[in-house]
Amino acid sequence: MFHAVVQRAAVLSLHTSPLAQPGSGDSGGMNVYVRELVSALAQAGVECTTFTRRTSADQPEVVVVEPGHRVVHVPAGPFDLAKEQLPSVLTEFGDRVIDHLKNESPADVVHANYFLSGLVAHRIKHELDIPFISTFHTLAKVKAEGGDLEPEWRHRAEQEIIACADAICVSCTEEESQFRRLYGNPKGRIEIVAPGVEHAFFAPGERSGARRALDLPMNAPVLLFVGRIQPLKAPDIAVRALAQLRRPDALLLVVGGASGDAGDSEVASLHALIDELGVRDQVRFVPPQPHHILSTYYRAADVVVVPSRSESFGLVALEASACGIPVVAAGVGGLLTLVDHGETGYLVPDRDPTLFAHYVREIVDHPAHAAALGQRGAERAKRYTWGFAAARLRRLYTDLCARELVACS
Ligand code: UDP
Repeated sequence: MFHAVVQRAAVLSLHTSPLAQPGSGDSGGMNVYVRELVSALAQAGVECTTFTRRTSADQPEVVVVEPGHRVVHVPAGPFDLAKEQLPSVLTEFGDRVIDHLKNESPADVVHANYFLSGLVAHRIKHELDIPFISTFHTLAKVKAEGGDLEPEWRHRAEQEIIACADAICVSCTEEESQFRRLYGNPKGRIEIVAPGVEHAFFAPGERSGARRALDLPMNAPVLLFVGRIQPLKAPDIAVRALAQLRRPDALLLVVGGASGDAGDSEVASLHALIDELGVRDQVRFVPPQPHHILSTYYRAADVVVVPSRSESFGLVALEASACGIPVVAAGVGGLLTLVDHGETGYLVPDRDPTLFAHYVREIVDHPAHAAALGQRGAERAKRYTWGFAAARLRRLYTDLCARELVACS
């Protein structure tokens, strides 16, 4: 039987807007993922409306990003509501989204990002009888394995979503096996939709020009950390690796800002560590940068360090590779897929700072080897495009519309 290709998708990104600046607060890879993927879906002919919670008075109700791509700011609760308080506005948010879908822009599927949106999408599935797709981005049990504990109600919420989602999107095989190990086999499909990278921005470029633009010395080793500053991202390991490098001319750039409950204390302890290790003159903090500007930072670096405790994918590692810069990353989650040890960078078990320093030294002391790692990384990164991700997703939406919905248990 022939089934028409899905035309309309409702995308939920309740707790953070795809239009927000990534790199601090609750804004990071998920924002980039939603914005870029929806843009690629729209270009592929799927009309997408992304619903996010309104967080300030000056946000218009609807932003038309491009043809087929709109963001709706949904009023639900006070603008400055803390993330922990968001469960109290899920019903209000859901009421408004359902209203919108019934009266203004109907959808064939609902695709939720993060578990808070997943709870709303679960309700939408039943009220509107449409397939429900969940991309968790992070999972409580995965975070717990990295030492970051989440409240019991989040665990229950994730189980509720898993028991009814028609499809669960993961970013790589590593994330899929991690999911099955921790949560078992879901009733819906598990679909691997690898994120992409915008190659028009993130491509190899001239290092000296980038260093001039950022006012960095031409010959000093430059290490780069990009991301939200919070314990999960472990910027302290980057500082320890810098100290163990014992190269007084080396610099570490930390691009990003405090994020989450422990963000401010993480920034404070990072400063304390920098003083304790005597590397104050070697570390530069840079506030969050517009996404496309980051390519200049990657190009200026000798090496990008990604020491995260857990990482469902790791866009920063992919962007660095796309720019031809070797990556030294913790051997966790999606980083295991993105970094090919000894080929495009190095993977460090147990996030050992001494080993991080060792591999960073391998890279900064051997420019020809570093160039080969970077070149292979850029070549591999070409596999990842948002257009390819959108094509998979469009196919998935269409398949799900042709099937019976998963029955809720
Ligand atoms: N990012 C950015 N500007 C910044 C810092 C980060 O645009 O100043 C982007 C970065 O390019 C990447 C995303 O934020 O696309 C972070 O994604 P990642 O998967 O590495 O980490 P997450 O935030 O999802 O934990």
